[in-house]
Amino acid sequence: MTTNAELFERAQRVIPGGVNSPVRAFRAVGGTPRFISRADGPYMWDAEGQRYIDYIGSWGPMILGHGHPAVLGAVQQAALEGFSFGAPTEREVELAEEILSLVPSCEQIRLVSSGTEAAMTAIRLARGATGRSKLIKFEGCYHGHADALLVKAGSGLATFGNPTSAGVPPEVVQHTLVLEYNNLEQLEEAFRLHGPDLACVMIEPIAGNMNFVRAQVPFVRRIRELCDQHGALFVFDEVMTGFRVALGSAQSLYAQAIPGFAPDISVFGKVIGGGMPLAAFGSSRRIMGHLAPLGTVYQAGTLSGNPIATACGLATLREIRQPGFFEALSVKTRRLVDGLKAAADASGVPFSVDSQGGMFGFFFMPELPQNYGTVMTTDQARFNRFFHGLLDRGVYLAPALYEAGFVSAAHTDADIDATIAAAREVFAHE
Ligand code: PMP
Repeated sequence: MTTNAELFERAQRVIPGGVNSPVRAFRAVGGTPRFISRADGPYMWDAEGQRYIDYIGSWGPMILGHGHPAVLGAVQQAALEGFSFGAPTEREVELAEEILSLVPSCEQIRLVSSGTEAAMTAIRLARGATGRSKLIKFEGCYHGHADALLVKAGSGLATFGNPTSAGVPPEVVQHTLVLEYNNLEQLEEAFRLHGPDLACVMIEPIAGNMNFVRAQVPFVRRIRELCDQHGALFVFDEVMTGFRVALGSAQSLYAQAIPGFAPDISVFGKVIGGGMPLAAFGSSRRIMGHLAPLGTVYQAGTLSGNPIATACGLATLREIRQPGFFEALSVKTRRLVDGLKAAADASGVPFSVDSQGGMFGFFFMPELPQNYGTVMTTDQARFNRFFHGLLDRGVYLAPALYEAGFVSAAHTDADIDATIAAAREVFAHE
């Protein structure tokens, strides 16, 4: 048997850090990453044959669990028909129709291959459609690794951001303003200073890249009003929340709270591909008309609308729109976070939890945080002990305290009870 440690050593010789996406390397939590050999339903097995209850779900896409029969069948059939044609197919039209039928704010959608690509193009589209350059994003929200979005806050609201990655020239982020999430004063001030130059405001409506922080309803309402007053576009990055927190995505929840609410541009990924490389961005027909080949905003992709990825996404969406799917998933996810909370309370560990649909977060602090600064005050050592304690007991959580968790329809009550029992054991040692 090859061990995880042996594989990690071999991987580090040929792949930087041994991984193809940084957070997989366990840098924050320490220890050896698990090399996964297969997955089924809510479980994954590593190279050593150890089974884990999987609460990462490939970072969100696996809402049905691994290897759902309907999805597997659709992918196998599609593979027999051909891997990639570089020409239009009926299936991509079907997937576009399926997505649009669930998201009334979008009249048209374009399929791409990653969330990064979708968010990057959404920004280009917003700039092209408005003829403006500047954009607002929020600290703690991640929209992929396009240059203009790898930014941290500058020294004040009058100045724009600083790159968070080497290799991003300051000039490339000079139009990106980074504000604190849920901070109304900063928002007002930014529009007062820069309103006429703003192309868009981009937000994760429930920020899963700082674990799980909701944009408060008055905050979202005010962004919508300010965008309308100043002619800027409001971009909802639903790569994580899309078809995950509700069938109509996070925007349907805000539309319930704010009558008539809709974002101008929406970005999707993860669930719409069911685990295959697929993402999308959509908007009104008028705004999407700016895209090539109709308009002057260029965007393209050799593998965009890939026939196997679209088969996988379509089969996934058809399952999650079955009546009662989200109600059952929400109950299951709630059961998990309530159980974790009760286990923490029993040991006197400060703990707060939140969930929506099949997405959840927990914090080692008594109150739910409202912004990135507060999230990052989490006791890293305590999180790491919890993470490794659960991993040792066969429960796989995200290996970083600023990442959300995901429950799938395949998780059983017994899986959730076993998870809570493992957490109780770990908390007892705190
Ligand atoms: N936006 C959000 C909200 C995300 O969570 C992510 C990835 N986790 C992205 C964009 C980028 O997606 P990808 O990793 O597919 O490029």
